[in-house]
Amino acid sequence: MEKQTMRFAILGLGTVGKGVVKLLQESREMLHLKTGLNLELAKVLVRDASKPRPGFEGLPLTEDVSEILDDPSIRIVVELMGGIEPARTYLVEALRRGKTIVTANKDVMADYDKDLYDAGEIGDAEIYFEASVGGGIPIIRPLKEALAANTMRQVMGIVNGTTNYILTQMSQYGRSYEEALQEAQALGYAEPDPTNDVQGFDAARKLAILCTICFLSRVKPGMVYTEGITRVTPRDIEYGRRFGWVLKLLAIGKEVDGEIEARVHPAFIPHTHPLASVAGSFNAIYTVGDPVGETMFYGRGAGAGPTASAVVSDLIAAALSKRTPGRRAGDAHTVYFEKRVLPIEETRSRYYLRLHAVDAPGSLARIAERFGEHGVSLAEVVQASGGPDHPDDGGAAELVLVTHTVQDANLQAVVCDLKEMRDTVLRVDNVIRVEG
Ligand code: NAP
Repeated sequence: MEKQTMRFAILGLGTVGKGVVKLLQESREMLHLKTGLNLELAKVLVRDASKPRPGFEGLPLTEDVSEILDDPSIRIVVELMGGIEPARTYLVEALRRGKTIVTANKDVMADYDKDLYDAGEIGDAEIYFEASVGGGIPIIRPLKEALAANTMRQVMGIVNGTTNYILTQMSQYGRSYEEALQEAQALGYAEPDPTNDVQGFDAARKLAILCTICFLSRVKPGMVYTEGITRVTPRDIEYGRRFGWVLKLLAIGKEVDGEIEARVHPAFIPHTHPLASVAGSFNAIYTVGDPVGETMFYGRGAGAGPTASAVVSDLIAAALSKRTPGRRAGDAHTVYFEKRVLPIEETRSRYYLRLHAVDAPGSLARIAERFGEHGVSLAEVVQASGGPDHPDDGGAAELVLVTHTVQDANLQAVVCDLKEMRDTVLRVDNVIRVEG
């Protein structure tokens, strides 16, 4: 039987675009079998069509987006350019013309406005964005479809491979942050300008997308408390190990009493936690839903192959949906509520504090007093007692204090007080949350 043809276009032929084209070429037969369709690549938008692209000759390149947007025979647009503009405008224009969009663009999807979705309300246009979070890990459609019967309570992820690689190197080989970053850059795991990754901004965008889907309420990156990994030291990691913990950059979303917590920061988790063994550049997303309980999704969070896997799977879903009018499998509009996102001061956690204090009788008692004054109770106190770990701080003792669960505002008040106790506290070295 003659197969129906579904024409689509790709915007961008970089790392992911090339991965997608290669996968489409390699799996042509399988795609025919799975869709019953002939998926035809009609156009590929690039900035510079004259640029040599070895191995990708003969593609229908164009530098003019109107050749795609104004062609009614192109039913699906796959956006793999990145950045907010002009990608966002092209996506809105494609939707307005009734084209379904598939995108890997976390910047656009995390900070979307209503007009993107309003545009998607036209005809049978839909929005698919599986690759925008977790690269090759299936998480968006599982949350929206396979877990749709659940009330999601928590989503907690390692969603940035660069920082997970750096922290793993620091943890396994005692490297400093700077050494581990340089190594990640040499291996191509970190950008020459690593700010987006190491300061947690990339993870915050992904968390915004995850929270919006899990809690059915819009969470934007600006609402996510964001703290990076640049202040983490091998010494903190080593202390954590003594308590049975592993340090990770976590993206945490929770719904508590109808309000949302959304935060990205380094955190200790017990070594028995499902996320603790996620090492190197791998990603994982752990969720808790009612009634399903805990689930975890694990895999490669970036790279041409894994990301192409997510994009082409979206393309298959989009094509099947286009073939069957009224199916609307990729209806991205999951925002039904306006839930408050808690400011960080109102969130609750356990805390690890490392500080240097004057090594004199009564120091510890004076420090503990400050915690008590702000209603912060201590679960553990450890004092470094000489040996190879002892810091080269004449007359100073290194203290590690672990609190019970407290409100962030109370803990910050304690830290402020400690910093003012100059006759007792030489410095507060680090404050890290303890989760799980
Ligand atoms: P990339 O390698 O930088 O490729 C971008 C492509 O888009 C290039 O082919 C470029 O054309 C084209 N392009 C950029 N701006 C354009 C414009 N104004 N007009 C026309 N074409 C334009 O990017 P990438 O790594 O493939 O990432 C693409 C998207 O996937 C991003 O949203 C990214 O966040 C997302 N993503 C990437 C990964 C990954 O592992 N790389 C993983 C998950 C998600 P030229 O070739 O002519 O310069």
